[in-house]
Amino acid sequence: MADTTYRAFYERSIKDPDGFWAEQATLIDWSKPFTKVLDYSRPPFAKWFVGGETNLCHNAVDRHLAARGDQKALVYISTEVNEERSYTYRELHAEVQRVAAMMQSLGVRKGDRVVAYMPMIPEACFAMLACARIGAIHSVVFGGFAAHSLAARIDDAKPKLMITADGGMRAGKSVLYKHLVDEAIGLAQFPPEKVVIFNRGLDTGMARTAGRDLDYAELRAKHMEARVPATWLESNEPSYILYTSGTTGNPKGVQRDVGGYAVALAASMKHIYCGGPGETMFTTSDIGWVVGHSYIIYGPLIAGMTTIMYEGVPIRPDPGIWWKIVQDHKASVMFSAPTAIRVLKKSDVSFMKRHDLSSLKHLFLAGEPLDEPTHRWIMEALGRPVYDHYWQTESGWPMLAPAPGIERTEIKFGSPSFPAFGYDLRLLREADAAEADVDEKAVVAVVPPLPPGCLSTVWGNDERFVKTYFTSFRDKMVYSSFDWGIRDKDGYYFILGRTDDVINVAGHRLGTREIEEAVNMHPAVAECAVVGVNDAVKGQMPLAFAVVKDPARIASADGRAALESEVMKTVDDAIGAIARPRRIHFVTLLPKTRSGKTLRRSIQALAEGRDPGDLTTIEDPGALEQIRAAIAERR
Ligand code: ATP
Ligand code: MG
Repeated sequence: MADTTYRAFYERSIKDPDGFWAEQATLIDWSKPFTKVLDYSRPPFAKWFVGGETNLCHNAVDRHLAARGDQKALVYISTEVNEERSYTYRELHAEVQRVAAMMQSLGVRKGDRVVAYMPMIPEACFAMLACARIGAIHSVVFGGFAAHSLAARIDDAKPKLMITADGGMRAGKSVLYKHLVDEAIGLAQFPPEKVVIFNRGLDTGMARTAGRDLDYAELRAKHMEARVPATWLESNEPSYILYTSGTTGNPKGVQRDVGGYAVALAASMKHIYCGGPGETMFTTSDIGWVVGHSYIIYGPLIAGMTTIMYEGVPIRPDPGIWWKIVQDHKASVMFSAPTAIRVLKKSDVSFMKRHDLSSLKHLFLAGEPLDEPTHRWIMEALGRPVYDHYWQTESGWPMLAPAPGIERTEIKFGSPSFPAFGYDLRLLREADAAEADVDEKAVVAVVPPLPPGCLSTVWGNDERFVKTYFTSFRDKMVYSSFDWGIRDKDGYYFILGRTDDVINVAGHRLGTREIEEAVNMHPAVAECAVVGVNDAVKGQMPLAFAVVKDPARIASADGRAALESEVMKTVDDAIGAIARPRRIHFVTLLPKTRSGKTLRRSIQALAEGRDPGDLTTIEDPGALEQIRAAIAERR
């Protein structure tokens, strides 16, 4: 059945989930067909494609060998170590089997956990796919995490094996991965028996623990001709563990299945991202995040595309680097984050224009609210559709997104469009879980069962899964996203920020995102963060921290004062004086997680004179110093 409108396609997915998902399931290979599309006998735990057997690695690699064995599967580009390597599907197949054999030789079996703490190098991709191939459960920990966060994740997973590299580079500075692994293992209660190290020659003084530490290249040399068949797994067996970003200071270990995930990714590649076999996808995230898992590794490979793994930042050697990559590799689909686009927006658009971007169909952005000025800027600069879309580590793939593969619906700036197929997504009032009216702010929720691809549970903790996600609305078992949203009269959704990012000003509840949008409307502002701080009179007051495009404007105290009143006026005009920040502080950067999310909680804590909390996910500690200094100046 061919639906020609988004609406019809979406409605069929909700009204006939069995029929809809059985059809999507044909997008992947099964070694054994499933007997039941959905088993929902134990709500809210959903089992998809029950009895079916498949394998993520087979679908991402082996399945393509016959038709596209000599096509590039993976292109690695590093502007950090100035290296470029690429692997065809056939070469990827060989490398993955070598790593799989190496893992097996170290005793890794189906169901064992393997923690990967790796930079953005092809070996990280091989390791993930090798785990998937033999049914081991990978837990990739983002390389920016410090030892104690890594230790906590080691103890949660109790891995048989860890795989790492001696080091990595970020913006020209080295990060000593192996050194951090040693420190983390020292802190952990359940350390792995073995650690495999891919030596890049970046840490000449690297220490080795005899009997525990093994060299990747030496092991690989022993398994050059390895043939390791894919282990067929029941659809609901675990494929991996991945922690949420920790923006709210409480990372959750998301557990994903095999079959549902593969089908959801395949369906999203076709209907949402529109990436087909032979095309190239460039996703600028990191393998340590869900975007990296789903749309650097598994999604594009399942779709038979060439995927680009980029080790580097968007502005080195110059702000044209991404667009050069798009040009050189004829990328047709691109996926990035608003925060990176805001960085690029500060540089000259000619860095983009000098490259041939004719291969590019569209750009998808997710991870943070996409403000209207940034959305407008990038879309005009690229001359291509730029789609905002919304999802979470928990969902594994988009929850709100347009489906241009079905219908090219109009884009509204700052809106991730509509619910993605399969999600019975609602906006519910916090108080009584009743459905919100048009334009009324409410909690983004999903009526379970969650569709294929979403988390099966919290790793090792079913109770936490139910408690965390399904008990926000007292009498109803509904999944809460912990984000605010509204829907306009045309059915477009807008995300207004997190449910804990609400400011209560004299009884008025204001989302920080709304105020941020207003601050961003001032042409001098590149980006900003708004937090609520305690106020003796009004309960809470918004406080804004804004990054200006031209630092010359804030060089003098007079300049700062003048700009501050201008920006306040902009907020007054956009929302009303009720939302006017008590102060607008100007800084050159904001504290963010490595995945680009603003750490509003830490800013708020500092503004209220409290401890900023766990900062291991922070991108640049200098940003917090600026917040501290700005606040001190006020006092
Ligand atoms: P934690 O749950 O540990 O606090 P986190 O929520 O930041 O961390 P992720 O799963 O990486 O971890 O991020 C998902 C969140 O990112 C969403 O719940 C939402 O708040 C935000 N987000 C993602 N995409 C968008 C978008 N397009 N617009 C607005 N917000 C978005
Ligand atoms: Mg979250």
